Amino acid sequence: MNLERISEKLGITKERLDGLQGTAVKRSSWPEPRLLRFEKTTSGIEAGTVVFENGEIVFGYPKIRRALMLAPAIKKHFSDVVAVEEKMNGHNVRVTSVDGETVALTRGGFICPYSTEVARRLLAEEIFEEHPGVVLCGEMVGPENPYVPKDIYPTETIDFYLFDLSRKNGKSTLGVYKTHEFARDYSLKATALLGEFRKESAPERIEHIVRKLGRRGREGVVMKDPENRAPPLKYTSSESNCGDLAVAFRYYNDYALDFFVSRAVREGFQSVEWNESEEERKARALRLGESILLPLVDTIQRKSSGENIVQKVQIRVKSLQTAKEFEYHLHRSGMRAIFDQPEPDDDGYLIRITKLIMSTNDKTQALLEGEMW
Ligand code: ATP
Ligand code: MG
Repeated sequence: MNLERISEKLGITKERLDGLQGTAVKRSSWPEPRLLRFEKTTSGIEAGTVVFENGEIVFGYPKIRRALMLAPAIKKHFSDVVAVEEKMNGHNVRVTSVDGETVALTRGGFICPYSTEVARRLLAEEIFEEHPGVVLCGEMVGPENPYVPKDIYPTETIDFYLFDLSRKNGKSTLGVYKTHEFARDYSLKATALLGEFRKESAPERIEHIVRKLGRRGREGVVMKDPENRAPPLKYTSSESNCGDLAVAFRYYNDYALDFFVSRAVREGFQSVEWNESEEERKARALRLGESILLPLVDTIQRKSSGENIVQKVQIRVKSLQTAKEFEYHLHRSGMRAIFDQPEPDDDGYLIRITKLIMSTNDKTQALLEGEMW
C-alpha cells in the first residue's frame, strides 16, 4: 500500500497513520481483499472506515444522533423542511465493488461473508459496472438476519433496503433525493420516505407516524434535511425501545448498563412530550415493566431447569463455503456459536445457528447457586 497517498486521502499525515497502526487501525487479511480497518474514531476519521489494499477507501457510516424530545430537537436542528424515512431494524452494511468484486462491510469495517453473499444475490451487477465508485449504504433486515433477527418485514429470509449513497474515497453522502432516485433506477428497495414536512408541523406529524409504526412493531424514523444541510436525527417507537429491552434483559449480563438506562429514559421523555393520559401512561408502564421482567424470569427459569442460555438464529446460503466463512467471521468477533448440519433446500442450504450467551448463562447459574451479585 502507498501509505503516503492513503494518508493524504484520509486527511492525516503519514506519520500519524503509522502511529495509529496496531492501535486504532487494525489489519485484516481475511477474507480477501485485505484491508486496514479503523476500529475507533480517530483524527476525524469515522470508526468502520476501511482502506483496501488497492488504496481505495470506504469511510465509516456516520453516527446518527438521537432526539429525546422531538419538537425542540427538530426546532433546534433543522432549517425548514424535514424528510422522514422509516428507520429499519437490522444491521448496517456498506456495499461496494473492489477490483470488480462486490463486498459488504459491517459497521465495524469487516467484510461479512454472509452479507456479501446476500448483497451479490440482491444487487444487480450493472450497478457497479455503471458506477464503479459507488457505496450503497443500507440495512439488511428480516428473520434470517443472524445479528438482528426480526419477522416484522415483508421477507421470509433477508432483504436489503438502501438508505444512503456515498462514493469511495469520499466522506459525503448524496442525500435523500439522489438515494431514492438511484433506488428507482436500479429497482432496489429503499427505506420508505414517509413524508416531507415544514419544521413547524413536523413534530405532530412525526408523532403520528411513530405511533403507527410502533403498532406494527416497527422501529421508528430517521429525520433528514433533504438538502443535506444538517446531519440526520433518529427517533424510535415505544414498542421498539421495549423490544430492545426485552432482548437485553433476556441476556442481561451481556449488555452494557447504558443500553438499559438509555432506553428507559427515552420512554420517560416520550411519555411527557406526548402528554399522555393516566391510562396511556399506565399502559406504557406495563409494557416497559413486562419487557424487563418477563424475559428475565424466562431466562432464570430456563437456567434453573438445566437449559443453557442461547439465542437461535438461522441463515440461508447458496454455497456451503459462505456458511463456513460466516462461522469463522462470528468466531473472530468473539461470538461462540454452534452451526448445525446444513439442510438442503430449493437453491441452497438452511443453516441453524445456536449462539451461546456465555456471560448471562454463567452468571445466572452462579446466582442460582447462591453466588452474590
Ligand atoms: P449510530 O451509531 O448511527 O447511532 P447504532 O448502532 O446505535 O448507530 P441505530 O440506533 O440503529 O444504530 O441507528 C443508526 C442506524 O440506523 C444507521 O447506522 C443505519 O444502519 C440504520 N438505519 C435504518 N434505517 C435508516 C434510514 N432510513 N436512514 C439512515 N439510517 C437508517
Ligand atoms: Mg439499528
